[in-house]
Amino acid sequence: MGESVKEKKARAAEIIHRLKAAYPNSKCSLSYSTTHELLVATILSAQCTDRRVNQVTRQLFEKYRSPEDYAYADVNDLARDIHSCGYHNQKARSIVGASLKIVEEFGGKVPGTMEELVSLPGVGRKTANCVLGECFGVPAMVIDTHMIRIMNLLGLTDSRNPNQIERQLKQIFDPDDWVGLTHMIIDHGRSVCVARRPVCGECVLSDLCPSSGKR
Ligand code: SF4
Repeated sequence: MGESVKEKKARAAEIIHRLKAAYPNSKCSLSYSTTHELLVATILSAQCTDRRVNQVTRQLFEKYRSPEDYAYADVNDLARDIHSCGYHNQKARSIVGASLKIVEEFGGKVPGTMEELVSLPGVGRKTANCVLGECFGVPAMVIDTHMIRIMNLLGLTDSRNPNQIERQLKQIFDPDDWVGLTHMIIDHGRSVCVARRPVCGECVLSDLCPSSGKR
């Protein structure tokens, strides 16, 4: 018989407890000092490592100081500035488009609701959840590649669809833990539950994980 929701919730609570003990300092690894900078960094992070994004934004945030600077930037100049993050033309169009709307329709301030954020060009649910969770204190869960992989291994979802995974996980994890969960799972995915070669013997979740030792 499958695991009941109640059993899943109990396992989720224990998973959180152990992750917090193992990764007490987990946090967003993108560098930023304003909400708009986090929005830019998150757009840049698609298909790119946070480390590379931080290398690029170190200079970018010196050159472009405000949402207006991005909104009225030459899109080709910006694309050159972010070239090494990949998909630079598309990302430059997203950053300029989103910034223009922020300046012209939101008074130069990044809006703080999911509905408004996803109305910005190039901003999807993942980016919006990241900004909401980090800067607005809204319980929000980012479903990235580590979350998709590890939550499937843990048997807490059976989907590869980020929106569906988000819905399923929000039913079993406490809202207070949503933001931290993603950061801890990213750390776990980088250090122990590594793609294609998880080190189950060193995993604090091994007795809670149906995939332990099977990969
Ligand atoms: S037991 Fe293995 S598969 Fe399960 S979470 Fe830990 S490292 Fe990943």
